[in-house]
Amino acid sequence: MRALTFHGTHDVRVDTVSDPEIINPRDAVIKVTSTAICGSDLHLYDGVIPGVMTGDVLGHEFMGEVVETGTDSTLKKGQRVVVPFTIACGGCFHCKVQQYSACDNSNPVEKQDLSATLYGHPMAGLFGYSHLTGGYSGGQAEYVRIPFSDVGPIVVPDHLDDDKVLFLSDILPTGWMAAENADIQPDDTVAVWGAGPVGLFAAQSALVMGAARVIVIDHYPHRLELARGLGADIINFRETDVREALMEMSGGIGVDAVIDAVGMESHGFAIDNMIDVVKQKVGIGADRASALKQALLAVRFGGKVSIPGVYGGMTDKFPIGALMEKGVSIGTGQTHVQKYLKTLLEKIEEGEIDTTFLISHHLPLEDAPTGYKNFKEKQNEWTKVVLRP
Ligand code: NAD
Ligand code: ZN
Repeated sequence: MRALTFHGTHDVRVDTVSDPEIINPRDAVIKVTSTAICGSDLHLYDGVIPGVMTGDVLGHEFMGEVVETGTDSTLKKGQRVVVPFTIACGGCFHCKVQQYSACDNSNPVEKQDLSATLYGHPMAGLFGYSHLTGGYSGGQAEYVRIPFSDVGPIVVPDHLDDDKVLFLSDILPTGWMAAENADIQPDDTVAVWGAGPVGLFAAQSALVMGAARVIVIDHYPHRLELARGLGADIINFRETDVREALMEMSGGIGVDAVIDAVGMESHGFAIDNMIDVVKQKVGIGADRASALKQALLAVRFGGKVSIPGVYGGMTDKFPIGALMEKGVSIGTGQTHVQKYLKTLLEKIEEGEIDTTFLISHHLPLEDAPTGYKNFKEKQNEWTKVVLRP
């Protein structure tokens, strides 16, 4: 089959690789109909994630048609499914409390060393996301093997086309969990850093949850216009002093909730103390205001901080004093996708959430390298790329 494979920093190629096969009774194989490029893929593309190898098939946002099932799979051939990017067994301690992205069993034992050494517990398995997270082949391909297919995938009705449901695989639940972690209350003013796919869906979710006012911060005019289209106010950080503007917009006390949907590629993020591998690859930045630091300084006393943006390693000059003195609460983590699928599919079916506004480009799989390059450079309104294998 054809698949998008990793060959080094900023070098991805569409190659012919072997077809996936059923390995375990709970597996299924799907034929991919749509798959997207995510901001998280850019961490791999930029070479900052350890454990990704030449030839690895990337991609963790995908959906398709079931073509093969293991004897213990609950799926049936021909069903259309969206697959969560987080692989979860459904039966371990963490899965039982719906913390699927901390699954104890989805990262094969022989591959756990690196993440277990870092965090004292292996990171859960993720599709197409390096050997740190299980070394699973990803979904930017014609076919993909789905482990624990009786737990993750959600069957979607035929009347909802791919563009309407594809983002259930990651960024819609991620935006939703980001808003949930910000504990949105009806009178809240919420500030969201990053008008990328995750920030836009976090803003949309906060509005659906009833926030009085949502303010989105970025510097790409087109992305900010999409935020405005959702009903958010906007701040261009190149033109306006963000903290001053937010203080003014919140009557001088700071905003009720802040959401960092930028992560470690934040402009000005200091990477001084990150693990060596990251440090070598990205270079060392001087300490400047990152999105997260700015968010911590802008949130009000007793406010809420939500961090869907991905970070790795360590950083210093973190405003821990603001965090403590303000008595803020923090929520973060890889998304527990499985937990939100049913609720969000219902909201899509009822028309309460429409995610199609985000898609700027549809490309054939063969053009995936162009998609990566343009999504990375964010030029000419490349907001979200959907590949059609
Ligand atoms: P993206 O790169 O398309 O968007 C990031 C946006 O942040 C860009 O528009 C950029 O201009 C903006 N930005 C950069 N520096 C900024 C600053 N200082 N202030 C305000 N805005 C700034 O990426 P995305 O797909 O939206 O993903 C965003 C983050 O969410 C990434 O770190 C990604 O890895 C993470 N993510 C997390 C999960 C999860 O499970 N927690 C899932 C998916 C993605
Ligand atoms: Zn993603």
